[in-house]
Amino acid sequence: MVESPIATIAAALQRERRRAGLSLAETARRAGLRRAIVPTAVLPEAALVTGVEVLGADTLADVLNWLRGGESTLVQPGDPVPLTEPPALDLADVLGQPEARWALEVAAAGGHNVLLIGPPGTGKTMLARRLPGLLPPLTQDQALEVTAIHSVAGTLHAESPLVTTPPFIAPHHTASKAALVGGGTGMAKPGVISKAHCGVLLLDEACEFPPDRLDALREALEDGEIRLGRRDGVVTYPARFQLVLATNPCPCAPPRESDCTCTPFARRRYIARLSGPLLDRVDLRIRMRPVTAMSTLDVKPEPTAQVRERVRQARERAMARWSTEGWVTNAEVPGPYLRRKFALSRKATALLDRGLTTGAVTARGADRCLRVAWTLADLAGLDHPQADHVTAALEFRDRRAA
Ligand SMILES: [Zn+2]
Repeated sequence: MVESPIATIAAALQRERRRAGLSLAETARRAGLRRAIVPTAVLPEAALVTGVEVLGADTLADVLNWLRGGESTLVQPGDPVPLTEPPALDLADVLGQPEARWALEVAAAGGHNVLLIGPPGTGKTMLARRLPGLLPPLTQDQALEVTAIHSVAGTLHAESPLVTTPPFIAPHHTASKAALVGGGTGMAKPGVISKAHCGVLLLDEACEFPPDRLDALREALEDGEIRLGRRDGVVTYPARFQLVLATNPCPCAPPRESDCTCTPFARRRYIARLSGPLLDRVDLRIRMRPVTAMSTLDVKPEPTAQVRERVRQARERAMARWSTEGWVTNAEVPGPYLRRKFALSRKATALLDRGLTTGAVTARGADRCLRVAWTLADLAGLDHPQADHVTAALEFRDRRAA
């Protein structure tokens, strides 16, 4: 349905306070309009949409004057300036933790969700903050989508509005459900899970989040979007993010685990706050140890740029393999495909099969293992995972949290 130009313009001017210029221009483009007039205040972000001419107006009188062919007072957009991102945090600043660093590289390469368990001071958050820097920059379409969400949320810079790198969002565990998944009075605003779209969502102190908040994440993890019921209908926002859960191993959380005063039951109950259905979506589980003097004395830590290059190559292999199926990363591939259409040789899965037979590995655990094995093969530049990759993938599983 193509609205009359006047209706489009009027709607645009009414929404001036909502700073949704990009969404307005995109709506006009999809409706087949050649030209859109938006409030001058949101002209810079509206001008990011290609395929539609965008002009700015301060008042409806300016628009009417222009329509009648009078001397135009409408504003032309300047050249769009990409958002100047703060310099990405570098992996070279993280000392020690070679296993966790490797796990972060695997997560970036395969798009896997991650659980980091470790006492305070092991650098869980420091590491998680460096994940976006390992991911490829957003494509043009992703950049527009992410920018549109932040535009509706009102979190864009007016002068340099385009978001070009994967967002990193880390809500506090006291965040309301509306802040987390979206909602609020009046127009439903996107929540942090949508602001993290195409980027990374870190839940630090994950076990401290109330169960209903963690449950609310599941819909987004399963569907890549969130539907918010409103009195006047349903609003859907995209919410496809990479999840990092970081937690202490127990409630008392001493720097050294040997000083823990919790009962075994209290420790188990604490981790069990992360429900099975949520953890089913987390392919990588990593135990982090306290950084000792010895472990920081090893080789100079590799910088982000070097790791990102390996991630890029691995992602290209995965994308080429799954392109006909419509997936981009290994983390998206459903279990049945990994077990049937893309089944590995019996030799490669011997250890996994034994684990399934003895009950040491669950069926879902086996699917997670296969996804990670594909990523390890991609990072090694191989066409198929070998037995070694399956074995290594099994080690990314924490029995106490599985
Ligand atoms: Zn404890």
